[in-house]
Amino acid sequence: SDSRVIMDESAIRRALTRIAHEMVEKNKGIHGCVLIGIRTRGIYLARRLAERILDIEGQPIAVGELDITRYRDDRPYTAEAAAPDEELTRLVKDKRIILIDDVLYTGRTIRAALDALMDCGRPQSIQLAVLVDRGHRELPIRPDYVGKNVPTSRHEKIEVSLEEIDDNDFVTILHP
Ligand code: 5GP
Ligand code: MG
Repeated sequence: SDSRVIMDESAIRRALTRIAHEMVEKNKGIHGCVLIGIRTRGIYLARRLAERILDIEGQPIAVGELDITRYRDDRPYTAEAAAPDEELTRLVKDKRIILIDDVLYTGRTIRAALDALMDCGRPQSIQLAVLVDRGHRELPIRPDYVGKNVPTSRHEKIEVSLEEIDDNDFVTILHP
């Protein structure tokens, strides 16, 4: 197998800066907006975007976290999975939600995230930002903000390394 770097530290930094500007432009500011990072790496990306938005707009934007493992359609249903998250409920009601994830693939994770958010009440709207869109969608889901579109085969895998947990910033494509 071999791997190739498709985004280095600078490329990731520039992509996040561009996306932060796009978010501010598309929403005509950030009034009523909340960034929701999807468990693990989406959360760090959401925090970085919030820092940039603060720099651009001079206003803080709320950041929340979502762990969708308990909402996936391939998981058994449990009472715990049925209870909406209290913190999330406070964050999403009537808000313009921007979901953040590292890689978009089939779309099933985002579908589950939409379910989880809807369980928490009625957001005003939901947008989606991803660092990498690798294609192969199985559901009618498309991102509003994309760091990089990376055509992949199903056998390939994207590796997203972020400084906060992986020591370095880079994205590679791994060929089996
Ligand atoms: P989906 O649910 O769209 O099929 O897959 C997206 C989710 O799985 C994301 O949360 C993402 O972190 C993870 N994922 C899917 N494919 C890849 C990949 O090639 N690389 C990485 N790092 N994560 C992936
Ligand atoms: Mg993930």
